[in-house]
Amino acid sequence: MTKYVYLFREANQTMKNLLGGKGANLAEMTNLGMPVPQGFTVSTEACTQYYKDGNRINDAIVKQIYDALHETEKIVGKTFGDNENPFLVSVRSGARASMPGMMDTILNLGLNDVAVEGLAKLTNNPRFAYDSYRRFITMFSDVVMDISKSNYEEIFDNKKEERGVDLDTDLTAQDLKDIVKGFLAKYEELKGEPFPQDPKEQLVLSVEAVFRSWDNPRANYYRRMNNIPYEWGTAVNLQAMVFGNMGDTSGTGVAFTRNPSTGENEFYGEYLFNAQGEDVVAGIRTPKPIAELEKDNPAIYKEFREISDKLEKHYKDMQDMEFTIEKGKLYMLQTRNGKRTAQAALKIAIDMVEEGLLTEKEGILKVDPNQLDSLLHPTFEPTSLANAKVIATGLNASPGAATGRAVFTAERAAEMAKDGKPVILVRQETSPEDIEGMAVASGVLTSRGGMTSHAAVVARGMGTCCVAGAGTVKVYEDKKYFSVDGVKFNEGDWISLDGTTGRIYGEQVKTQDATVSGDFAKLMAWADKHRSLKVRTNADNPKDAKVAYDFGAEGIGLCRTEHMFFEGERIMAMREMIVSNTEEERATALAKLLPMQREDFIGLYEAMQGYPVTIRYLDPPLHEFLPNEDDDIADLAKEMNISFADLKATVESLHETNPMLGHRGVRLSITYPEIARMQTRAVIEAAIEVNKRGMNVVPEIMIPLVGEIKELKYVKEIVVATADEIIKKAGVKLNYSVGTMIEIPRACLIADEIAKEAEFFSFGTNDLTQMTFGFSRDDAGKFLADYYDKKIFEADPFAHVDQKGVGKLMSMAVAGGRTTRPDLKCGICGEHGGDPESVDFCHNIGLSYVSCSPFRVPIARLAAAHANIKNPR
Ligand code: PEP
Ligand code: MG
Repeated sequence: MTKYVYLFREANQTMKNLLGGKGANLAEMTNLGMPVPQGFTVSTEACTQYYKDGNRINDAIVKQIYDALHETEKIVGKTFGDNENPFLVSVRSGARASMPGMMDTILNLGLNDVAVEGLAKLTNNPRFAYDSYRRFITMFSDVVMDISKSNYEEIFDNKKEERGVDLDTDLTAQDLKDIVKGFLAKYEELKGEPFPQDPKEQLVLSVEAVFRSWDNPRANYYRRMNNIPYEWGTAVNLQAMVFGNMGDTSGTGVAFTRNPSTGENEFYGEYLFNAQGEDVVAGIRTPKPIAELEKDNPAIYKEFREISDKLEKHYKDMQDMEFTIEKGKLYMLQTRNGKRTAQAALKIAIDMVEEGLLTEKEGILKVDPNQLDSLLHPTFEPTSLANAKVIATGLNASPGAATGRAVFTAERAAEMAKDGKPVILVRQETSPEDIEGMAVASGVLTSRGGMTSHAAVVARGMGTCCVAGAGTVKVYEDKKYFSVDGVKFNEGDWISLDGTTGRIYGEQVKTQDATVSGDFAKLMAWADKHRSLKVRTNADNPKDAKVAYDFGAEGIGLCRTEHMFFEGERIMAMREMIVSNTEEERATALAKLLPMQREDFIGLYEAMQGYPVTIRYLDPPLHEFLPNEDDDIADLAKEMNISFADLKATVESLHETNPMLGHRGVRLSITYPEIARMQTRAVIEAAIEVNKRGMNVVPEIMIPLVGEIKELKYVKEIVVATADEIIKKAGVKLNYSVGTMIEIPRACLIADEIAKEAEFFSFGTNDLTQMTFGFSRDDAGKFLADYYDKKIFEADPFAHVDQKGVGKLMSMAVAGGRTTRPDLKCGICGEHGGDPESVDFCHNIGLSYVSCSPFRVPIARLAAAHANIKNPR
């Protein structure tokens, strides 16, 4: 019989997969003798079983839940469902990977119309009892019954207004009793039945709701963004309630062992007296900084510091803790490795290594490569900033600079972002419903909430700039404007945010790219020491190559030469070449392209300062260089001095039903060997030129889309003959190599043969993915969303290598190629080369290097170090 339910005292930290992070850590804290309200965890396997059983919790699991409840009753000395001394519990989800804000919490479960009176008598505090009940009704309605909290807000606010009070804490017991009455009536009105009074029914419904929430759209979206598999499921934690809302000797808060924004080694957090959990994060009341607890209650503060120090040492990581003080006694409700900004991640990792808490390798593993992205994001241009006026200031919740047009809903943010317009999402406060809007926004601004508010926590996790709790900004979401000191800003108006200082500007302030220094450079140096994969860049011009070089690229893994042909006079020469009717005409046009191409290569070699440069020969179908519309064809015909009919005929002759499977790649060089000749001439002459100036460039010539050895052999002979002749004539020595892209499944299958000609392989995983799945890379986006919705795919195979299929072909190709050439250099230059998960895979199958876009170079360097530390080679 499978065990689905574990008491905290039966489990430990190693059981994260089964019990989720929260459950495993509650068990661990229990084992460490810390003051944890006791309870139990329903496992992630129970969640999976719930879905297998057709979205119901089977009787065997229900029985295990009741048994564990009974055991917990013994520990806490109270009985669930007792009306005189009610045993109340909290219900919280907890997956294997933390998913902040994605799953909801229910507090005070077990209360009903009778037990609330019992609780009032027992505590001699009816205000507290009814406050707890109204919270429970709201949370249960929201999480379990899909009745939004907003249905109750009006009743609550009306009461406050009627009583003329601002703060929730100023409401009396009678006020709260009236509110509860109103809530219960509202519930019945909306559901057509009374609020469930049986605590056991409340409990099972709540556990079910948590399981259900694993599959809600927000959770699915978050998982896809963070690569969390659906199969994992979530666990549910049921824990004896302790109360922070029992008066002024009670309270609740959140704290971090180090500053999650800057990484400074300082105790950091917020708390509220006489409050329950959600008050702190919801931003309804403004919490106090944790340092004030030292004055308010020195003994508790000291105990909490001791516990938090112990936890940080135990987990060897910065901890994010939730605590409650009930009538002067401290309880730990949660601990986990805290989410942090990229800057903080770097500082914490480096400090912990320098403090001796972590080894260098452990320190490297503490920084998520994906997170570095936010460090490579822009800051404000000083000149533009100098003239900008600060209109308000909020909390510096998540660093970086952002400029964009104000929008007031997540939907609008998504719409405008789709049109390529940068947006700033402005809200009173954010909630999990806003997550998609936050993900596409350049920045997030809220008028309410603290450093641990939803907006702050989620934006930090995403690396999105955020200014939170800007009290002087009055936000009117439904009317689509905000105002500051009477000045109105409407939807579409430009604003800018500085998430590092908390400043808000009522205008567009120009941003500039980040530079690598300080902690970043230090961690990168460590990463370089511990990786074995080389990291190159995909770049087609000296500017991008220079950026990549400065980010640590060790060569160019892919120069797409066609990108050089689209600009200015080049496109004309290219078009002349395409419409040529004879080889001579074509040669004349190519002769015009040669010097331009040679200059391009000189620029690239120079930017790379002697590192290898891989030049990929012309790849796209030729029609891409010609216009489609008759008007444009007519204009071009005039410009080229040829007849409309001739040009139109050329365009039509180049038309293909499936251009992606058409006349492109190596096939172009087979039809037009003179193109390969011209490109070889440019590559070799440029190398001779820069080598004369003391460099030692060894060009790598790469032939695309090869699927048959004879294709490669044919083109290689042309390349070698041309190159050798030039080298001989110049009377110099120059090494070069000729290799191929591996991007057609057939090439993987016959890689041993291909390697007889190819001196290196580079995986073009964009085309390889396209051809392995048979998905057009240009159109797959249109239907992949349905694949995610229907759980056929969890991730985009064009972003993360499909290790099962495409990856299998890659492994075969590496092995096949190396049977022919044991030291065959194998790289990857598809978009996957900058994706940490794919980098890990490339390391494990023995590639020599990955190549990615310039801004992803540091990410790939760190990912390569992670891969090698986890699996050294
Ligand atoms: C590829 O196919 O992965 C590749 C790098 O080439 P391109 O994207 O230019 O087709
Ligand atoms: Mg390709």
